[in-house]
Amino acid sequence: MVVIRGATTIAADTKEEIQKSVTELLEQIVSRNNLKREELVSIVFSSTSDIHSYYPAKAAREAGFESASLFSAQEPEIEGGLALCIRTMIFVEKNISPHHVYLRGAKVLRRDITDIYNVAIDGPAGSGKSTVAKLLARDYNILYLDTGAMYRACALKALEAGVEVADEAAIVSLMRDVRLDVAYENGTQKTLLDGRDVSEDIRRPEISMAASTVSKHPSVRLHLVEKQREIAGKFSCVLDGRDIGTFVLPDAAYKFFLTATPEVRAKRRYEELLAKGHAVDFEELKAEIIRRNEQDSTRALAPLRRADDAVLVDTSNMTIEEVVATVKKFIQENT
Ligand code: C5P
Repeated sequence: MVVIRGATTIAADTKEEIQKSVTELLEQIVSRNNLKREELVSIVFSSTSDIHSYYPAKAAREAGFESASLFSAQEPEIEGGLALCIRTMIFVEKNISPHHVYLRGAKVLRRDITDIYNVAIDGPAGSGKSTVAKLLARDYNILYLDTGAMYRACALKALEAGVEVADEAAIVSLMRDVRLDVAYENGTQKTLLDGRDVSEDIRRPEISMAASTVSKHPSVRLHLVEKQREIAGKFSCVLDGRDIGTFVLPDAAYKFFLTATPEVRAKRRYEELLAKGHAVDFEELKAEIIRRNEQDSTRALAPLRRADDAVLVDTSNMTIEEVVATVKKFIQENT
């Protein structure tokens, strides 16, 4: 008999929220542990004393977990305890090493037994990695870390300060006095320069090539990679970039490398920029994407390259949904 632990917080004490959160928690536990629902022998819930609207056990039964014996209890009110939290303990008749699952606010609980895992998605611009990474992080309820945004923020700072992006010493001294942070608001990454939200500004077309040049400087890379490793060490996350699987997290649990033809990549980027109101010339954009890719692939430190153990996905003729499904299938089969 194996015991799997889990918990989630809920947004409000309503029947719907309890049903939704219990379903999500159980489904994640089943999928992360590669189990069939029938293999769950018994599911015990406890909820904090501020939850009154529904029984988690009833929500579990309604979500199709009726073959297990189900039980819910209420915890006493504990000062300083987590609010609106549902905990579970699941007994399984199978010899597995359990993956415990803590979602939302409950991620702060039991860091000791929660296994943090990271998904690395690398590839050139326009290969679809950021869209796929965002969807994957949403579906797995883990963080999405857009590492390109960090290089873009450095480039933006340099352009605003009139500093030459190719000048490593000048960039390093500029960044020494700047705070570069990533924060999360409703699961969306915000990139902050000295507390200022630059998430939109860094998407301007002229920032792309400047970011690529800034990212060639080893001291800039090492500084940002340290921040990336720190976040990835604390939280499960999907990271997208150029060197995640090869350099930032060579031991990431799952690694993917997305590619697509330059034509398709340029078209995607073109449509993305157009939708954001940036007028760009398609041929110029395509030439720039090719040049940027070349620069990223030939730099000395941590160039854009597929890790030997990364799964290669050519997304040229795939929809985003198909790419996400491919990635998830691989993760499911290899967990
Ligand atoms: O992914 P995105 O297009 O936003 O990245 C901008 C630039 O930042 C890339 O062209 C690349 O030069 C650099 N970058 C990097 N390593 C990463 C992420 C981005 O060198 N992990």
